[in-house]
Amino acid sequence: MIYQNILNGLCDIYNLPRIKVIFNKDYLTNPNAGGQYNFITNEIIIDENEQCIMEILFHEFRHYWQYRRYAKIFIWWTCRSMGLFHKLYWTKFCSIEEDARIFGNTLGESNRKDLLGLYSTEQLCYLRDNQTALRYAIDYVENFL
Ligand SMILES: [Zn+2]
Repeated sequence: MIYQNILNGLCDIYNLPRIKVIFNKDYLTNPNAGGQYNFITNEIIIDENEQCIMEILFHEFRHYWQYRRYAKIFIWWTCRSMGLFHKLYWTKFCSIEEDARIFGNTLGESNRKDLLGLYSTEQLCYLRDNQTALRYAIDYVENFL
C-alpha cells in the first residue's frame, strides 16, 4: 500500500525501526483526532475518512520520531501536562505539536526541532504549576521564536 511504503521510507531516512500505519478510526483513542501515533502499540492510526492523509501521515510520523529522540518531552506533553496539552495545543508553546504541525504541513521540508529542547521536563512542571511564569513563557515563545 502506498502510505505504508511512504512511512517505511520515512523510517529509513530517519534511521528508525519501521512501524505500521492502520486506517481505522475505531482504533483512535481520541475520536476527534484525524490521526494518532500510539506509543504503547507503536502504530500510527489514521481515520480512513480524512482528506489530507499525506499531511497526517507526516505529522504522526513526526510524533513517532519525537518519541524516539525526545522521549521525556513527548511523554510529558502527552501524559503529564495535566490539561496543558489540550489548552495549549494550537500554540507554539506546545512544542511537540508545533514541530509536528510544521513537519506535516510541509511534508517533511521544515520543522520546529528548535522548540523541542527549549524547556526541560522539570521546567515544564514548574511552568505548569505557576500561572504567571507560564503566561510569560507562552508570550516569549509565541512572540520571539
Ligand atoms: Zn499531533
